[in-house]
Amino acid sequence: MTSVNPWEMARQQFFQAADLMGLEDGLREVLSTCKRELTVHFPVKMDDGSIHVFTGYRVQHNLARGPAKGGIRYASDVTLDEVRALAMWMTWKCAVVGIPFGGAKGGVVCDPKHMSPRELENLTRRYTTEISLLIGPERDIPAPDVNTNPQVMAWIMDTYSMHQGYSIPGVVTGKPVEIGGSIGRNDATSRGCLYVTQEALADRGEKLTGQRVAIQGFGNAGMYAAELFAQAGAVIVAVSDSKGGIYNPRGLDVERVIYVKATTGTVVEYRDAERIGHRDVLEVPCDILIPAAVENQITKDNADRVRARIVVEAANGPTTPEADAILWDKGIFILPDVLANAGGVTVSYFEWVQDLYSFFWDDRRVYGELEHIMRRAYHDVMNKLGTLQKQHGRRVDPRQAAQVLAIERVAQATRIRGIYP
Ligand code: GLU
Repeated sequence: MTSVNPWEMARQQFFQAADLMGLEDGLREVLSTCKRELTVHFPVKMDDGSIHVFTGYRVQHNLARGPAKGGIRYASDVTLDEVRALAMWMTWKCAVVGIPFGGAKGGVVCDPKHMSPRELENLTRRYTTEISLLIGPERDIPAPDVNTNPQVMAWIMDTYSMHQGYSIPGVVTGKPVEIGGSIGRNDATSRGCLYVTQEALADRGEKLTGQRVAIQGFGNAGMYAAELFAQAGAVIVAVSDSKGGIYNPRGLDVERVIYVKATTGTVVEYRDAERIGHRDVLEVPCDILIPAAVENQITKDNADRVRARIVVEAANGPTTPEADAILWDKGIFILPDVLANAGGVTVSYFEWVQDLYSFFWDDRRVYGELEHIMRRAYHDVMNKLGTLQKQHGRRVDPRQAAQVLAIERVAQATRIRGIYP
């Protein structure tokens, strides 16, 4: 399976958009570079008494529109280039939905599935201490990402607060509600996907009811997507996790799949379905395909076999530029990551605002504001797409439109602020 370096991929997307909008050279250089990159190597005491040195990163891509924002992932294949790409995508994502943040990302090279809760806590607290050079509620606000969760966010909040001597909930988002988290943060990414998908279908005179949906990944994004899309009337025909996938053209009982995943650790133990591979989920016949795992999933090797009409990128960077071109030729419509999965960081923004004001919202307010922002962002991207098509006299894809919209907003903030000194 071909895998593309994510940072090269993010830059390639950027330069394509920069060409399309005629961005000036100076800003091209500024916006295609990450502002700060911190690498840390730190020791953690393991349960057997041994000491192991781990490597972690925190990268801030851009701060023109506000403090840096972005999640932290734990995985054995994390690289600096991956974190750079994810930080750049966060900058565009925050700009697409119009929330006042720049982009950042963090990662630790580790295998969290083979670590005990105590080892994970030790790792998290030490990593937090190491990156406290950069983070803070006015500076850089981490959040959950692949293999991190509200408990990990609680440890980050507690560690940072211990150093300062008082509680600072606004240093991190995605916390449990008991310590300053927001209602609705857990399923926010998937709820955002749902809203933009409904808008895209409405533009085609269609509804979600009865649409066949396949979802790759059953973590925070994939699991809630299965639940919310099913509740909204879609038929979930396939899901997967790292151990494999399940497919039933008549539909899966999503609540049952969630139960099986919670009790056995994997969706493949669900009985009433055909077992398929983790990547095979991308190729089943369906109307809507939701890649909700990691980067580099739809590549030039398999793009030709995608049989969906619409791809909704709940994951960051699931489709390579070569695959983009193939899907485009097949007439498949992509709702790009920086739009489709922006619901997560949008509710993170609500959480940060609530923490700063110590005044907490109810679910109606959270979901109402999220819906408003996501639907508006969808139409902003589509309007930009229309303008670009008129301007260039050719078809433009939604990823390029979303990128142009975002880059324009960040570039404009940079021009207004000026280059210091
Ligand atoms: N990790 C999520 C993302 O990629 C959320 C980031 C955040 O809430 O800051 O969008």
